[in-house]
Amino acid sequence: MNILVIEDEQKVAQALKEGLEHEGYSVDLAYTGEDGFFLLNSKQYTLLLLDLMLPGHDGIEILKTVRTQKLDLPVLILTARDTVEDRVLGLDSGADDYLVKPFAFPELLARIRVLLRRGREKESTQLQCADMEMDLIKRKLKRDGKEITLTLREFELLEYLLRHQDQIVSREMLATDVWKETNRATPIDNLLDVHIARLRRKIDDPFEVKLLHTVRGVGFILSEEAP
Ligand code: CA
Repeated sequence: MNILVIEDEQKVAQALKEGLEHEGYSVDLAYTGEDGFFLLNSKQYTLLLLDLMLPGHDGIEILKTVRTQKLDLPVLILTARDTVEDRVLGLDSGADDYLVKPFAFPELLARIRVLLRRGREKESTQLQCADMEMDLIKRKLKRDGKEITLTLREFELLEYLLRHQDQIVSREMLATDVWKETNRATPIDNLLDVHIARLRRKIDDPFEVKLLHTVRGVGFILSEEAP
């Protein structure tokens, strides 16, 4: 989950970055619209947090350009201008939601979660991490263009990891969400390790860049970058 924050007030921007990183998001900061554009064109983001009052290109201008280039990127605008006209202008220009400054951080987090969830729902039927692609309709997996055969459980496990990529997924999350195991009296740790090892043999062993990493004592993370 990569979030880009475009905000010229550096203290505010830093506080947002720290707060969001604490929640497990990875965050890039841009203090100007130009820097923001540069980052948007060089990296994939899952959400844009955009301040409306910026020097040079203001937020509305940025928003309009973003909308012509990246239709699916959820945009949450932050505005100090609390007038109906400004809010309408922001939403008309393609923002998905807005928050009036000053706002409570938990409220920002809640709005972000809603946008990300919505984004995932309308997301295509493909999940991707580096050169690995999962087709959810055909139930097929490819890495570097080569098809990899998975068992049903391996597929479900990998789908879950792909949906949470770049986030640490705990053993508990996998037990509850993939194995639907709520009974704590039946530990599935061994089963989990067997599946992870098999998955790793299929998706990572033949390739140079490893995607599935173990986070000792916590769980796992699927990411192009080693944790
Ligand atoms: Ca500002």
